[in-house]
Amino acid sequence: MSMLDFEISRSERPTPAAEREAVLADPGWGQHFTDHMVTIRYAAGKGWYDARLEPYGPIPMDPASQVFHYSQELFEGLKAYRQADGTIVTFRPYANAARMNRSARRMAMPEIPEQLFVDALELLVGTDREWVPTTDGYSLYLRPFMFATTRALGVNQPADEYMFVVIASPSGNYYARGIRPVSVWLSRDYTRAAPGGTGEAKTGGNYAASFAGQAQAVRNGCDQVVWLDAVEHRWVEEVGSMNLFFVYGAGDRPRLLTPALTGTLLPGITRDSMLKLAPDLGLPVEEGKISVDEWQAGCASGEITEVFGCGTAAVISPVGQVKGPDREWSIGDGEPGEISMRLREELIGIQYGARPDPYGWVH
Ligand code: PMP
Repeated sequence: MSMLDFEISRSERPTPAAEREAVLADPGWGQHFTDHMVTIRYAAGKGWYDARLEPYGPIPMDPASQVFHYSQELFEGLKAYRQADGTIVTFRPYANAARMNRSARRMAMPEIPEQLFVDALELLVGTDREWVPTTDGYSLYLRPFMFATTRALGVNQPADEYMFVVIASPSGNYYARGIRPVSVWLSRDYTRAAPGGTGEAKTGGNYAASFAGQAQAVRNGCDQVVWLDAVEHRWVEEVGSMNLFFVYGAGDRPRLLTPALTGTLLPGITRDSMLKLAPDLGLPVEEGKISVDEWQAGCASGEITEVFGCGTAAVISPVGQVKGPDREWSIGDGEPGEISMRLREELIGIQYGARPDPYGWVH
């Protein structure tokens, strides 16, 4: 039971079934949206109120709303999956709720009760359930977000009014033409996050600040950018919008290393899931530090056999090539690694119900 009753107003002009099916046959990523959205308002002293399910559409905004000027904004991302028996599940939604609230504390924004967050997701997915694709590997991406609506240009204090919204977008298979290792660019010129900054919060500004680095990666013929630490430009933190894992596979006991959460990394739900899943598959994981030099040397000596990025969108994305202003090397033989693929299969298996879920992750 939610602490708020949602006022329901269903769309009078939902997408015709044939049109919806055409979208679901080839949804791409983040281009199509379902027929409804959830909105909830917040005011200081009053708390969360005015919860609604309404037709998807524009949100009228005052031009002086604080979000337009000072970027008080947060978002989350998770997916709803259609299982073989037709049931629809989401993956670890309470973990996303908890992360949104950690982000909220950093951005001086209000926390949302975890149950209200999950109720909002359930209401939207339940209403727009026909939009959850049945095609293997497809899903309905859910985007909860929150922003400051207070009409004021005063820059000395956080807003006292906010809106929380959930929209949903059918998404196809990230790797429509088979899994292909990505190439990554070591950025010297751009930093994603600095100590004491907002790197561990899922706030739009971090992404706005990343586009120039991503464009530089593309100009250098790479798919994604590797973010290094802001102080020494030496320690590897993340790749694009994924957390990184290094596979030390040369010995007879393979093990994994992932950069520790130092405050400048986004604590990925997929990363956290790997930390639990991998050891249960006999692959110990260390949360530690790895420098660019160690990465290159590890690949040269054959000690590091696989590297992958992980996140909700791509699940697991093998890294095949690393390039920087003064160096370039490859990982493995250019094919997706065995351990990366095994972890990917296990996680997808849990999400789509093909494998048991001993962790209680599916909801
Ligand atoms: N790092 C960054 C910077 C991201 O934006 C994301 C995507 N949310 C991730 C890592 C992966 O997080 P998750 O596994 O929760 O999708």
